[in-house]
Amino acid sequence: MSNNSIRDITEDSKGNILIGTSHGINILDPKTDKITHYTEKDGLINNTVYGILLDSNNGIWMSTNGGISKLSLEDGTFMNFTISDGLQSNEFNGRSSFKSKDGKLFFGGINGFNVFDPDSVELSLFKPEIIFDKFEVNGVAEKYISSKKLKSTDNNIKVSFFTNDYKNSSSAKYYYNLNGGDSEWEVSNSNTLLFANLSPGNYTLKVKAITQHGVSSEEACVDFTIKRSFWISNLAIFIYVIIIAIIIYLKINKLKKLDQLVNKRIQELRCEMKKNEKLFEKIIALEKNKNNYFVNMSHELRTPLNVLNGLNQLIKGLSKKDTFITPDKLSYYMDVMERNCSRLLSLINNLIDYAKIENNSYTLNKKDENIVYLVEEIVLDMKDYIEGKGIDLIFDTDTEEKEISCDKLEIERCIVNLLGNAVKFTPEGGLIEVLIQDLKDKVKISVKDSGIGIPEEKQSMIFDKFNQVIDDNSKQKNGSGLGLTITKHLIGLHGGEIYVESKVGEGSEFIIILPINNN
Ligand code: ADP
Repeated sequence: MSNNSIRDITEDSKGNILIGTSHGINILDPKTDKITHYTEKDGLINNTVYGILLDSNNGIWMSTNGGISKLSLEDGTFMNFTISDGLQSNEFNGRSSFKSKDGKLFFGGINGFNVFDPDSVELSLFKPEIIFDKFEVNGVAEKYISSKKLKSTDNNIKVSFFTNDYKNSSSAKYYYNLNGGDSEWEVSNSNTLLFANLSPGNYTLKVKAITQHGVSSEEACVDFTIKRSFWISNLAIFIYVIIIAIIIYLKINKLKKLDQLVNKRIQELRCEMKKNEKLFEKIIALEKNKNNYFVNMSHELRTPLNVLNGLNQLIKGLSKKDTFITPDKLSYYMDVMERNCSRLLSLINNLIDYAKIENNSYTLNKKDENIVYLVEEIVLDMKDYIEGKGIDLIFDTDTEEKEISCDKLEIERCIVNLLGNAVKFTPEGGLIEVLIQDLKDKVKISVKDSGIGIPEEKQSMIFDKFNQVIDDNSKQKNGSGLGLTITKHLIGLHGGEIYVESKVGEGSEFIIILPINNN
């Protein structure tokens, strides 16, 4: 029900119960128990329904507070009659309606009553036309807004219109629909419509007028658009999407770069670790070699000490027994003791010198020397010793005089060491050559033998005592000194170099290259 205040009840020829209320008329279909109601919104002239009468065609006539309305249930349309159609007044009263036997309808109001034959009521068939009059946007008058695209802030629209039914314009009802027919038609008694705070979008305003006698005008339309504000426009959304995509892309790129940097760093660290591992292994190997060397060296030191100790015991024992020691024997023992003492001294001197060279505290006492003379002197000094071993010795030079700045004693020591080694590793009947060659700003001294030779894999090790594996020759030949190691360092201190060329079974050649001026 549209309202609880009931003013009249009646039944039509189809059995529908018609209930007039203070807010429209209700039609109850007893078969379905469904109620349909009609109010001003649907075309009823006034919502206060006083009396309901039916004509011979099942037309429903109602007296109201605003005139008389006729409702055709078939199509739900209304026809309205007012004082201008000859009614006593627009206001009617309750309990004042009556239908006579000849079908005439009586309605009583505040100024008498009206009686009429419903079948012969004169109707105006004039079809009105809607004409848009004025538009206002945000209170500012606009000539027209049709097809206009308004700013998002221009969203308060006022539309005024009129009909060409000037006579009955006040009794016509206007219907409008802002969304092009999708939503319900709204009714308006006024010919001015105000739409406030419209959201962005496309709008079609449709307006139609229905005269009081139920004649509907054509729909009048006006289209307009309220644009979205830039911040929510398609372009802005597109820009946001692009910006977000760029930010994501940059972030991903940054992450990728970081990842690459981390991977690179990891690789570098791995490489460094590998290098360190190798270095560590090298250092451990070096330490092992040093240990081995010192173990060997201890044996070497012990051997002459044992000899000395043995001889000491022997001489003591002999003197206790009052045994006569012949001068020859004593001299022999003294020789052996002297040799062993000098060997001990040489070993210890080598050790001390090596330590000094390692600590960079070894100093040279350089002077200008004739190197040819210096080497020749050494060769001559050792000539008897070498030839006594059944080895031939040749000295050859392409220059008589070559002055170089050097420490005479240290160069002597190097040549003696090389010659000593040559003798040690050359069998009887062999040949040792000492050759000098003038290279202008350098001089080449070579000590060449026809001895046992050095295997290729050993050649790089012999100059670094601590790097070499246990040296069989060294053991055999009672070596274990630091000869070549010290020699290489001494030549290095002179700014020169030493290297070896050798073939097993054919002999070895040690070559020293010395600059003439090495300051
Ligand atoms: P050592 O005093 O133990 O001989 P060096 O440093 O003088 O020490 O020599 C190192 C090693 O080099 C020797 O043990 C030997 O194996 C090898 N060597 C040196 N000179 C010769 C050479 N002329 N012929 C063959 N091998 C040699």
